[in-house]
Amino acid sequence: MAEKRATIIRGGRLAGSGPRAEVADILINGDTIAEVGPPGLAAPADAIVIDARERLIHPGLINAHMHGHGNLAKGMGDRWTLELLLAAGPWITGGRTLEDKYLSTYVGAIEMLLKGCTACYDLTVEFPLPSVEGMDACGRAYADAGMRAVLAPMVAELSFYEAIPGLLDALPPALQKEVERLRLAPGDATLAAMRASMQSWTFDRASVRPAVAPTIPHHCSDDFMRKCTELAREFDVGMHSHVQESKAQVIVGLKRYGKTQTAHLHDLGLLGPDFTVGHGVWLDYDDMQRLGDHGASVAHNPGSNMRLGNGLADVRGMLERKVNVGIGTDGANCSDNLNMYESMRLASMVSKTQGPDTDRWLTTGEVFAAATEGSARALGFGDKLGRIAPGYKADIVFLDLHNVNWLPFNNAVNQLVHTEDGSAVHSVMVGGRMVVEGRRVTGVDMAALARRVEAARSRLEGATIPNKQLFEKVEHVVNSFCPGLAKMPFHVDRFGGGHHGHDHAAWVKR
Ligand SMILES: [Zn+2]
Repeated sequence: MAEKRATIIRGGRLAGSGPRAEVADILINGDTIAEVGPPGLAAPADAIVIDARERLIHPGLINAHMHGHGNLAKGMGDRWTLELLLAAGPWITGGRTLEDKYLSTYVGAIEMLLKGCTACYDLTVEFPLPSVEGMDACGRAYADAGMRAVLAPMVAELSFYEAIPGLLDALPPALQKEVERLRLAPGDATLAAMRASMQSWTFDRASVRPAVAPTIPHHCSDDFMRKCTELAREFDVGMHSHVQESKAQVIVGLKRYGKTQTAHLHDLGLLGPDFTVGHGVWLDYDDMQRLGDHGASVAHNPGSNMRLGNGLADVRGMLERKVNVGIGTDGANCSDNLNMYESMRLASMVSKTQGPDTDRWLTTGEVFAAATEGSARALGFGDKLGRIAPGYKADIVFLDLHNVNWLPFNNAVNQLVHTEDGSAVHSVMVGGRMVVEGRRVTGVDMAALARRVEAARSRLEGATIPNKQLFEKVEHVVNSFCPGLAKMPFHVDRFGGGHHGHDHAAWVKR
């Protein structure tokens, strides 16, 4: 009954309690924090004692938006817009075996744990539709690594080429024929597959739980979006979708719906506290109000937004309208790491680069809260994760205060957001169990993992040659057609009156 023994963490400095973080003891029962108190806190005589002197303690960071399938594709692109990334998808994530799906997810889990992140919202993908075995392999990767995850299959009915009006016609006839093989499964088959996966879910939902992710609204019919929501509500799980991420997407949304994607999702009755918008770079103030009024979340991914040229999200505008904001890294195929310390730093910087009015900048405290409590709420774990407090899960990061990042130690939260880069992570606890100790993931042989990953990489390089060649043929068409869309007149007024520079309806009629 070893796991029933209590654990007491003694002598660590607790981030959030004053600039230099007060020393506090933490008593853990099973997987849950029982008590936080001043040094000398009473504990059962047989409690396991963890000496946390010279450690800064903070709640595990929570990655509100990433893609487990992207980890085997890190560094494969450079000057890619979101649309080029989507066109490259069949190449950089194609040809995956079940073992590849597991491995890609597992490598990401290891990276996140080593960088102080203990839970994530993973939007994963299988072509042409999700499968029970595929979702099980991804779930197993997190369970094996000892990390929490919300695992949502990204689903759609239309391929990228079918979803962008006019794009298919812009391709030469031979290529139009060739992209037909990228067609997705019919919506009903995809919905049935998700249902089967959720019905046969074997993981403890407190650790690894399912969700539903209609990938991008205009890649789905309204009927499909509604059915995804019904499914999510039936199984009491979250919904996550990429909304108003790129300007080209916004223009497509306006053409298709005559209103913003968020306004359309609102009209469909999809918005609620279980709904997370991925990105929301191009939300206007009315969209933010709609999300805030419904208690919805935005997963803010500043690194990806810059890397793919999508722009800078207005997080202050979201917070003012009571939107819950979490922070994510996005996939390693577009950011190209899963470092939540870097994402926090970028979230702070992005807010500060948008204008001289310092009241609109995010404070480091707001950024840190978003990457912990905000992300936890987006994952549907708002009452269990993101804080070091009684009743919360014992997901705790221990930073080495002798690391150069903390020489000197002036201000815990400022330095967590602006100085720390993950290199001071000494140990990481998830649910009361140490999963990283002395900068190593417990029980993981990195050399053996490297051999497995290289074998997969090398095989996939060969298996995806046709998809790579197809990408090379469509690349210039996508890269002239989609930026062309993005040059159309549409402007979100960031710091002014909160309306569009151009009237939607008038634009759509043109
Ligand atoms: Zn994404």
